[in-house]
Amino acid sequence: MSKADKAGKVVVVGGGNAGFAAAIAAAEKGAKVVLLEKAPEPEYGGNSRYTAGLIRFGFDDKEQVRKFVPQVPQAQWDKIRINPYPVQKYIDDLKLKSKWKADPELIRWMAEDSYGVMEWFVEHNVQWTFLTYIPNAIETGFGDGIVLETVGGGPGIVEMERAEALRIGVEIRYQSTAYDLVTDDTGGVTGVKVRGPDGVSYVERGAVVLASGGFEANPEMRTRYLGPGWNVVKVRGVRYNTGDLLDPAIRVGAQSNGHWAGCHCTTIDPTSPDLGTLESSDKTNKISFNWGISVNAAGERFIDEGKDWNTKMYVSVGNAVSEQGGRAFQIFDAVGVEHLDQRYDPDAAFIGDTLEEIAAQAGIDPAGLAHTVEKFNAAVQDDKPFDPTVLDGRAAVGVSPVKTNWATRIEQPPFVCYEVVTGITFTFGGLRVDRNAQVLDQGNVPIRGLYAAGEMTGGFFYYQYPAGSGLMCGALTGRAAGWHAAAQG
Ligand SMILES: Cc1cc2nc3c(=O)[nH]c(=O)nc-3n(C[C@H](O)[C@H](O)[C@H](O)COP(=O)(O)OP(=O)(O)OC[C@H]3O[C@@H](n4cnc5c(N)ncnc54)[C@H](O)[C@@H]3O)c2cc1C
Repeated sequence: MSKADKAGKVVVVGGGNAGFAAAIAAAEKGAKVVLLEKAPEPEYGGNSRYTAGLIRFGFDDKEQVRKFVPQVPQAQWDKIRINPYPVQKYIDDLKLKSKWKADPELIRWMAEDSYGVMEWFVEHNVQWTFLTYIPNAIETGFGDGIVLETVGGGPGIVEMERAEALRIGVEIRYQSTAYDLVTDDTGGVTGVKVRGPDGVSYVERGAVVLASGGFEANPEMRTRYLGPGWNVVKVRGVRYNTGDLLDPAIRVGAQSNGHWAGCHCTTIDPTSPDLGTLESSDKTNKISFNWGISVNAAGERFIDEGKDWNTKMYVSVGNAVSEQGGRAFQIFDAVGVEHLDQRYDPDAAFIGDTLEEIAAQAGIDPAGLAHTVEKFNAAVQDDKPFDPTVLDGRAAVGVSPVKTNWATRIEQPPFVCYEVVTGITFTFGGLRVDRNAQVLDQGNVPIRGLYAAGEMTGGFFYYQYPAGSGLMCGALTGRAAGWHAAAQG
């Protein structure tokens, strides 16, 4: 090692939402903090910068949301419908979406503290606005726990956090890749080894917060843990989240936790780049499948497109498309297309007055598609009216798969088809932490000096995921890690 730096108390690895939350929390407790970021400065912010800034939190009453959006004029506020999202509902959603696998202690912590995390964000100058991607939500109302996004979306959250971190004295070093942990004679973690533009160095502080994301951008680890089918998948986020510190942490005794064979993925535009870019970021998402049918290249349906709100089933749809060879088609008629979110670009659609026309353009088996639509249309029940603002129970039954909600016939031209492919967002496996975000060893004993936050942790998510929980998880664990690392460092 060429250099040593022992000036402060907490080193944070990774400058996304979790890392900034940790750095701000440690600095507000008086610690001297250095944050190491692998990316060069223009590319800082991690996957967090690529998000829509959408966040999920629990609240009992519309008025509890008011203090997060003080800029909204009272007259507008009075007209907006916001359904309560109690803590227990948040817990139930996390349980249900994880098929009851999520760590009960971790998800209870997340749901119970989520409102307090929002208050803490506001104390630290992170500003919020109503989420923008659902068309007409201001008129039709917000339900289901996702009401707000950061002002400026993903770029907004990391800009506001970075500004706050710098304001309270955090030192940020870019192009600094932590690649190993430094331990003392008793097995406690005291620092990291870093590769930077000037070579290799130690950063030794006394406590380390690992907030360096998952392994979604590492094809070798994806193949190892998720399976061969994930080797060449498109990556929605940053190229830098390659799981560098997972093995080193496990080598010093950290316990792994969670769904290592699972990941967050979704359906995206086939023209998306292989590795996410700031331009593509969240804009390539295609998750308005609730309003039509989804078919594979043979023209066959393979999911219940109306099983739940898209934000609560989009990960299983991403996985289902992956099982169809990673490619599928969303088909809408003139009625369904009215409900597509703003990320659908009509210029990217195959449009035709007949199903045969769109099948020919998109490369779907035309006979298969015609047969599927005929059977689906015959199965649509008219006993309930179509209502896109609730789970309307308007079903298609007697077909496989059924469609549980929002089933309307695909019958009014022009027909519109969007091709989609699977894109990986982030991985679910990580390190086991306690409520201090301290990493536990194989005997569930906290490892002195070692903390983890955000995508580095495991146990919160399995299989599915209610949208907006990633940013909450990062802020919750980052804040806890920073507070406790500062006390210990
Ligand atoms: C396109 C997209 C849209 C999304 N939309 C949403 C949304 O709207 N709401 C939501 O809740 N979640 C969303 N997510 C998920 C969300 O991004 C993550 O759950 C969360 O931001 C992860 O935060 P993090 O700080 O753990 O990781 P990141 O934000 O990825 O930060 C990790 C940082 O660590 C750095 N790093 C990696 N390795 C090293 C190393 N060895 N040394 C130093 N630094 C290192 C990386 O460069 C990166 O800056 C989205 C993700 C993507 C990709």
